[in-house]
Amino acid sequence: MPTELDNIIRGIIQDNGPMSVATYWNLCLAHPQYGYYITRDPLGAAGDFTTAPEISQMFGEMVAVWLGERFHHMGAPSKIYVVECGPGRGTLMADIVRIGRVIPNFMDAVSIHLIETSPALRAKQRTALADCQVTWHDTMDTVPNDAPIMIIGNEFLDALPIHQYVFQDGQWFERVIGVGGDGTLQFGLNPSPFVPVIQEQVSGDIFEYSPPREHFISDISARIASQGGAGLMIDYGHDVSACGDTFQAVKNHAYVDALSHCGDADLTSHVDFGRLKDISVAAGLQVTVQSQGDFLKHMGIEHRAAQLAQKSDGVQADLHRLISDDGMGVLFRVMEILK
Ligand code: SAH
Repeated sequence: MPTELDNIIRGIIQDNGPMSVATYWNLCLAHPQYGYYITRDPLGAAGDFTTAPEISQMFGEMVAVWLGERFHHMGAPSKIYVVECGPGRGTLMADIVRIGRVIPNFMDAVSIHLIETSPALRAKQRTALADCQVTWHDTMDTVPNDAPIMIIGNEFLDALPIHQYVFQDGQWFERVIGVGGDGTLQFGLNPSPFVPVIQEQVSGDIFEYSPPREHFISDISARIASQGGAGLMIDYGHDVSACGDTFQAVKNHAYVDALSHCGDADLTSHVDFGRLKDISVAAGLQVTVQSQGDFLKHMGIEHRAAQLAQKSDGVQADLHRLISDDGMGVLFRVMEILK
């Protein structure tokens, strides 16, 4: 059954010709009426995917430990902005606040700002953070710039759209989405060659490039450089730029055809941390990209799990899922940006 958005997208293509993967992505996730994130809360067992903060409180607690360390490293300023991008149900921030209350001077200094475009998820965040003073924004542009800033985001970057380019007959062409003879959406190539986006290539290679992810990192890097502070972006991805097709659609915890569930499945792709790191380094910042497993272990998650396991079941299984090589421990990367 085509969704409403399927019909809208087919109409746009019939009027204007094939569209880029990025345009398609934007329509599917952010269409003002039928966009995936606009209409629903996609998280959790009953939804389409589960994220680290939804698996265990330990994840948010370790991010809180990191924030507390950075805060004291900066000399415990009297005012600091903590900004979360794409906060989902507000679970991560609620866990941070709970731990933040026992970090000396931290909550007195912190002003919480959430970057969120989804009305459905803003409502969940309002409930999760009912006892906190929180300000919402559509983008980073309206976040104040008169104090140091700590910016975090878990599975935020992968929600921002990508373009795809295919190497064929010695040239790069942008991958586009058109309507086939049978009326279904299909991949094709824009016939005009594109300026090379990467040096090494073999026929059939696909290169993914995301201007919004790069603009976002460039923007937060400029803020961290001028306001002072730090950033922590966590997502699945690779530390070195490479070719590969990682464009995926996820529905009910399984991969589905990316062109058949417009507005009804999440669209994601791996984050190219190699390119993002270069952008922050060029802004004069110190950047490390490490595995989620290593990051959480450095913050003390095994110690915390041992404590929690005395009171509740399932803690070791959650720990395993968060830090192990066969869980989220390696595929997920943690990019730390420091002034
Ligand atoms: N961080 C949460 C949710 C991840 S899902 C967690 O780990 O559970 C992606 C989140 O980013 C959702 O809250 C979604 O509404 C938000 N989002 C997606 N695109 C966005 C955009 N362009 N600007 C702001 N938020 C966006």
